[in-house]
Amino acid sequence: MSIEGFPVDIGVVYEGERIRKHEMYAEWGGVKQKYKFELVRVRPLEAVEDGKVQVIGPDIKDLPEGAKAQPLGILVEVAGEQLKEEMEGVIERRIHDFCNYIEGFMHLNQRYDIWLRLSKKSFKKGLNSFTWIGKALCRLFKSELPIIEKIQVTFITDLEKVKEMFDEALKIYEARDARVRGLKDEEVDAFYGCTLCQSFAPTHVCVITPQRYSNCGAISWLDARIAAQIDPKGPLFKIEKGDCLDPVLGEWSGVNKTVKEKSLGEVERVCLYSAFTYPHTSCGCFECAAFYIPEVDGLGIVHRGFAGNTVIGLPFTTIADSTAGGRQVPGFHGLSFEYMRSPKFLQADGGWERVVWMPSEAKERVKGFVPDEILDKIATEKDVSNVEELKKWLKEKGHPIVARWKEEEAVEEEKLPEEAAPAAVPAAPGAPVVAVPQAAAVPTAGGYQLVLNLPMPAAAGGPTYKIILKDVKIIAKKMILKKITEEEKKKK
Ligand code: SF4
Repeated sequence: MSIEGFPVDIGVVYEGERIRKHEMYAEWGGVKQKYKFELVRVRPLEAVEDGKVQVIGPDIKDLPEGAKAQPLGILVEVAGEQLKEEMEGVIERRIHDFCNYIEGFMHLNQRYDIWLRLSKKSFKKGLNSFTWIGKALCRLFKSELPIIEKIQVTFITDLEKVKEMFDEALKIYEARDARVRGLKDEEVDAFYGCTLCQSFAPTHVCVITPQRYSNCGAISWLDARIAAQIDPKGPLFKIEKGDCLDPVLGEWSGVNKTVKEKSLGEVERVCLYSAFTYPHTSCGCFECAAFYIPEVDGLGIVHRGFAGNTVIGLPFTTIADSTAGGRQVPGFHGLSFEYMRSPKFLQADGGWERVVWMPSEAKERVKGFVPDEILDKIATEKDVSNVEELKKWLKEKGHPIVARWKEEEAVEEEKLPEEAAPAAVPAAPGAPVVAVPQAAAVPTAGGYQLVLNLPMPAAAGGPTYKIILKDVKIIAKKMILKKITEEEKKKK
């Protein structure tokens, strides 16, 4: 696509482009900036001046090179005979991919989590004003969604003005989310899917149901249904439910079939209400991540906006990296705030009874949806700072997870010694010892996929055989981290 005089290229080829710190000219939003948002509003035809782009506050060229975490509000106003307010959410989500079509311009996340960067290269080529970005958005929106007859875009970069609109934007998001609450997965005849994030996570497929909100938190079941109707060739599509294979785990035959097709065979099963058993894949723009804490057999949850370390000593970014990219990683799970408000929230794993730690801000945002008897038993960064303290806290507060420890201990005690520790089979005298120089454990749906590359001795022909063990469960009672000395290295 070309726009007269546009300083850089525009096209799907640039989707997925990452701009690293050293390549960036300037940055807006991100974790370090609270005041940022993007919002689409449907207006009457006469209220929109088609093609108008406004910048309120400093423009790109007014910023010094390397400017970080600038405030930003993106307001897109659209009008059209057939447009309805319920369509705002899905139109808004397209800001993400349309911005990413612009060479050297990166857009991540959504709503109040947006994070944008412009590359030095594109700035040098002349992409030095939001007016250009606005022009590209106007053109892309109108060509991809012909239902939009008129569009105008406003970029707000003045901190005070962004602050003014920020609270209003939050209220609008909340009203959208509340529309679907009360609708049950069992009551609808179809679910919806989204592959918008495949540019960053090629095997990721979001399955959106009334009670399992999208990972990004920006697309509800109603939004997805509307999107599939207005843009049938777009990234959102209908999923026939098929048979319910397990109502507790949330597994449907139609979901499995569609996810397998859309992930090109990579993901074969998805259980919508579990973080452990064939969990929903995680893309990269999920609002929060759940992570397993083996020492207490519970789940922690951390949101993108939390800048500190979690109770396991890792920040959101590291936990997110453990599950992002369209993978199914048992125990690590990308999810949205709205899914935490659902009665189906991780129901197969124990729901809220399994959650032991959250940042105080995240807890505040979902507190009306956590059972009263559990809310005060979930620790935050203000209560504990490591797993040992967490364990103590959970015991003192009588968190329901403690009952699980007792059950597990009882089962352990009941085990016969030979069940608990199977005897090692001694190798036959003279049997060859096979060295395993390369082994990789890749997390998969049912456990781990363990890949062993076994070179055979030259005397036996010398080829390397790859042995793949699928759905391996790895249980380690202890992890020993041992520094290898230079002397030991030489001996090897
Ligand atoms: S997180 Fe899911 S619903 Fe949201 S844009 Fe990505 S694929 Fe679509």
